[in-house]
Amino acid sequence: MTCMEAEKMVIPYIEDELTISELLEFMEHIKACPNCREELEIHYMVTVGLKKLDEGDGAYDIIGDLRRKLEESAGVLRRLKLFQMACYAVDTLSGMALLVMVLLQFRIWIIV
Ligand SMILES: [Zn+2]
Repeated sequence: MTCMEAEKMVIPYIEDELTISELLEFMEHIKACPNCREELEIHYMVTVGLKKLDEGDGAYDIIGDLRRKLEESAGVLRRLKLFQMACYAVDTLSGMALLVMVLLQFRIWIIV
């Protein structure tokens, strides 16, 4: 992903409007690219900060909040990866079980 693509996703990210695959690419870019991370921080401060200011919460920890949001996104992606691995394992296992069943069936045919 290029910086320009990442910049375009900053607002959708803050508004929670990215798809999972977009989120995956975005998070990877943000992790590796300090410029875009800074861009995200600025946009986050402006978008969410103004909203919070309106609500009158002066002691709001905005950078901490963004860090929590990023960790949360990373957590979602981690869980997703685990889930995909689990699906893959189940797929492999059921494939193997099927193979074993077919082999056993063959053995029965051959013996009979
Ligand atoms: Zn970048």
